[in-house]
Amino acid sequence: SIPLGFFGGIGGASKSGILIKGGNYLEALADAEIVVFDKTGTLTKGTFKVTELRPQNISDDQLLELAAYAESYSNHPISHSLKAAYNLEIDSSRITAVEEIPGHGVKAVFDGKAIYAGNHKLMQMMDIPYYSGEIIGTAVHVAIASEYAGYIVISDEIKEDAAHAIAKLKASNIKRTVMLTGDAKIVGEAVAQKLGLDEVYTELLPADKVSKVENLLEGKSSKGKLVFVGDGINDAPVLSRADIGIAMGGLGSDAAIEAADIVIMNDQVSKISTAISIAGKTLRIVK
Ligand code: ADP
Ligand code: MG
Repeated sequence: SIPLGFFGGIGGASKSGILIKGGNYLEALADAEIVVFDKTGTLTKGTFKVTELRPQNISDDQLLELAAYAESYSNHPISHSLKAAYNLEIDSSRITAVEEIPGHGVKAVFDGKAIYAGNHKLMQMMDIPYYSGEIIGTAVHVAIASEYAGYIVISDEIKEDAAHAIAKLKASNIKRTVMLTGDAKIVGEAVAQKLGLDEVYTELLPADKVSKVENLLEGKSSKGKLVFVGDGINDAPVLSRADIGIAMGGLGSDAAIEAADIVIMNDQVSKISTAISIAGKTLRIVK
């Protein structure tokens, strides 16, 4: 049977917008030792702004149109941002096929031509020559069939409470704070440095995130627990693999809310340390 005190802890957490799916997760959370974060939509807002348009052989507007159409069916934060920047209605009859390639980007048939929009890994995968100089930001490369059409630089903002939230975790019993991201090294490392995270791993595919978490699980003490915090876009398998999977419920997908053990309703990073401290207090009362 579940000790009565757990109901108090779960109830108290829910008043703070933290939904805990069972007393066992509260118990595990009290032993949290490693906190691993996804970047986009978790530590950052997930609302990218276009900062540069670098078309090749087409106009700025055409480049943005190609990207917005290619992304029209995607639910990735990058896709929403490009559609918002395009700001015109998408005529979905011009799109006849769409394919999302996790950790890479999208492919779609637009006006009968194959369009690719994604990172350098997507260009490499399709054997399309692309601009490979240094880009300060997240690059979305665009190609029409095997013809490179240029790139769009987008940038996201760190959530207001993120730095304070990480500092609070580091001042508590948490031994390691880690960030995993599929984004570029230059972007991931800059975010991790600004937030004071202990470790950062970049350019990871969804499967790489799972193996990283498995490595981190091997490196912790036997009693200690690993918490993963994500938004569920490309990271639902990691949410299930962690001892405790926490999803950001606001931006997050239904799949994330399903895969997670705990859901943060308003997406604030500071709710992670709130949840851990509620867990600690509850366990002290129960035991
Ligand atoms: P993160 O680990 O930061 O949450 P993801 O794993 O969702 O990021 O994506 C990793 C990278 O894959 C992105 O930074 C982007 O370069 C590329 N990518 C993924 N989905 C898309 C998309 N719909 N359009 C363009 N690029 C994408
Ligand atoms: Mg993500």
